[in-house]
Amino acid sequence: MFIVTLSIIGALSWYGYTRITELSGQVALLQSTLASSTAVLQNNLNEATTSLGSALQQEKQNVQAQLGGVKDQVGSITGTVTDLQKLSKTDPELLAKYSKVFFLSDNYAPSRLVPIPSNYLYSDKVSLLIIPEVLPYLQKMLDRAKDDGVALYVSSAYRSFTTQGALKGQYRVTYGAGTANQFSADQGYSEHQLGTTVDLITTGTNGQLNGFDRTPAYAWALKNAHRYGFVLSYQKDNPFYVFEPWHWRFVGVKLATYLHEKNTYFYMLDQRTIDTYLIKLFD
Ligand SMILES: [Zn+2]
Repeated sequence: MFIVTLSIIGALSWYGYTRITELSGQVALLQSTLASSTAVLQNNLNEATTSLGSALQQEKQNVQAQLGGVKDQVGSITGTVTDLQKLSKTDPELLAKYSKVFFLSDNYAPSRLVPIPSNYLYSDKVSLLIIPEVLPYLQKMLDRAKDDGVALYVSSAYRSFTTQGALKGQYRVTYGAGTANQFSADQGYSEHQLGTTVDLITTGTNGQLNGFDRTPAYAWALKNAHRYGFVLSYQKDNPFYVFEPWHWRFVGVKLATYLHEKNTYFYMLDQRTIDTYLIKLFD
């Protein structure tokens, strides 16, 4: 009985042992299959990620390039629109050349005018007007002159056609028609009617404009006025009109600086060249 029992146990053990070995083998096989499958999957995943990554990267670059293009386009359209708005708001008369045969319409008047603060005026008995865009340039110029110890004041600014006519009449009465035509207004009146032009004066000339060219104030203006956008319209020995050392027209800092550097004058340029500065008039 004992032997039988032992034999049964032995047989069972053998069976058990064999079965366990077999199962272990299967498990090992499964594990190795799983491992290699995992490796393959991981590899596939890596490849997929890489190619997806580069595709995404490419797509991202494409989108960025397109966006950049759109931005450029939007930028240039915005720029053009801004330029057009600036141009549409800038009165081309402000940079027109006037002469004895080409002058501003009698009916022309600036859309807005503001008074020049009285501390910039030679006389406190008058009120002088200028267009608002030019006022800050005028103030800066006269402030700088003062800082440099130069007495520079405004004796005339905007003049309507009617005022101009009256002034001319007054000159005619005082000096006779010939002289009146010579030094008032036939040509200069248009520029005063624009509201961008001033007659400058200094102390020590008894309130007279004549002789201004022999004063330190004139020398200062010749050297510095362009920095504030003002130019001498009728320089000495000009072929267009009498010399008016006191008469300064605002043409913008860019154009005034150009004229100063080229040592030339507004009326020496052709109108087409001048017109390219219209957009920069108040820059
Ligand atoms: Zn003048």
